[in-house]
Amino acid sequence: MGKDIGHFIGGRQVAGTSGRFGPIFNPATGEQTGRVAFASAAEVDRAVQAAKEAQRAWGDTPPIRRARVMFRLKELIEKNLDRLARLITEEHGKTLEDARGSLIRGLEVVEFACGLPHLLKGEFSFQVGTGVDLVSQRFPLGVCAGITPFNFPAMIPLWMFPLAVACGNGFVLKPSEKDPSCPMALAELALEAGIPEGLLNVVNGDRETVEAILAHPDIAAVSFVGSTAVAEQVYRSGTAHGKRVQALGGAKNHMVIMPDADLDMAVDALMGAAYGSAGERCMAVSVAVPVGEKTADALIERLAPRVRQIRIGPGTEPGVEMGPLVTREHLERVRRYVDLGVKEGAELVVDGRDFRMQGYENGFFIGGCLFDRVTPEMRIYKEEIFGPVLSVVRMPDLEGAVDIVNRHEYGNGVAIFTRDGATARNFAHMVNIGMVGINVPIPVPVAYHSFGGWKRSLFGDHHTHGMEGIRFYTRLKAITSRWPEGAIAAEFRMPTHH
Ligand code: NAD
Repeated sequence: MGKDIGHFIGGRQVAGTSGRFGPIFNPATGEQTGRVAFASAAEVDRAVQAAKEAQRAWGDTPPIRRARVMFRLKELIEKNLDRLARLITEEHGKTLEDARGSLIRGLEVVEFACGLPHLLKGEFSFQVGTGVDLVSQRFPLGVCAGITPFNFPAMIPLWMFPLAVACGNGFVLKPSEKDPSCPMALAELALEAGIPEGLLNVVNGDRETVEAILAHPDIAAVSFVGSTAVAEQVYRSGTAHGKRVQALGGAKNHMVIMPDADLDMAVDALMGAAYGSAGERCMAVSVAVPVGEKTADALIERLAPRVRQIRIGPGTEPGVEMGPLVTREHLERVRRYVDLGVKEGAELVVDGRDFRMQGYENGFFIGGCLFDRVTPEMRIYKEEIFGPVLSVVRMPDLEGAVDIVNRHEYGNGVAIFTRDGATARNFAHMVNIGMVGINVPIPVPVAYHSFGGWKRSLFGDHHTHGMEGIRFYTRLKAITSRWPEGAIAAEFRMPTHH
């Protein structure tokens, strides 16, 4: 049967008891390599109770000691980097190098969390009134939960639990059921680093598990990352249950290429941004917008041969640039989108639908696909495909490019390639998008800044990690104090400072 993954509750791995399971595949071979248990509401409750119990003392532990645990976690993740990367590749399919890169980006959040005593420092005002002082201080919320997608099984959990826990909270993580091994390994490492037993739990599962989390009265806040339809539903249900929710959703990221751009640089950037990780990134560029027919023709001419030459193969093999998609179901979905694009009248310049990987005929492989002359009315433009499919939408001018970017329902990332500073600056100012790249194709902010989209790419008020993360996982208390030396007269009017 292969591996049998349960949950991580109360500081140890436990078998699932609901009787419900999901399959785990190796996307390169197409073989089922194991199964993962789906938690029932009772199992979610056990995890929440463990977190609640452990959080009481942890929330009162001096921040410097909580930070020391983060320093140890950082070292342990670094020590285990290759093992963790392999777990990702075996279940997700991305290349080992890419998996390692995603772990390092997640690790940067742990590094940020090491600075917690400074980040949690409150504000103090001396003498807000005569003999009166005021301190505003951030406190933990209690127990928080995180629900994460398949495409970054380590990085996105690492966006969440290190900060939540460093801020003094307990945490229940519900990773994607498609690649649960790496999140389970991270929980083990957190325990080894000194996170108290029960403080951090992992419940594996599906929709039913998520619903139990959203309805649980002892969970104060939920961080979600996944597709927009689910993000919106999680936001509505979580907030209806009185929780603080940040729910990050899907994306359709454009890259505008101006006539003055360094085209070789733009093509290199597009190759990595559109086809890296087989397009299964929420910050992948899925739409290229060359400005002017000449730019468009030159772009297609340089791009097409590069797309045909992508080195495709199992993510564990050195030199491979693009691995398989995550599941057979997802592969079929991506193929159907390419069929649809042809039907809608887009020009399929490179067709990767029939790609078969020699020796891995059952793997979930697809070749890179490139569409030219895509228009904003087409579904392949409007919807997130989440595969190695790049659409080129030709635009006569920058205004047209900004207009389609702003009219798209998603607002995660956008990039512009140009040599002109004023164009770039105006573009950054005009676009209705959460993360903007100027000659940077995938503008994922570093850990000490915050990540988040606009429009239907994020539901809620807080972006993730950076100071927004600290704000999300804490609540503010203002303490006004006076130490009178004599008697205080009764004051019946609203106290003022006059
Ligand atoms: P998904 O929405 O299918 O699943 C995300 C999580 O929700 C998983 O843990 C899953 O088990 C759970 N889930 C799935 N269906 C559910 C339902 N009906 N009710 C409750 N819970 C449910 O997403 P995915 O396929 O795992 O990930 C890909 C998506 O995530 C893409 O849309 C991508 O753009 C998005 N994503 C967004 C960001 C971002 O930062 N905005 C980052 C990574 C991925």
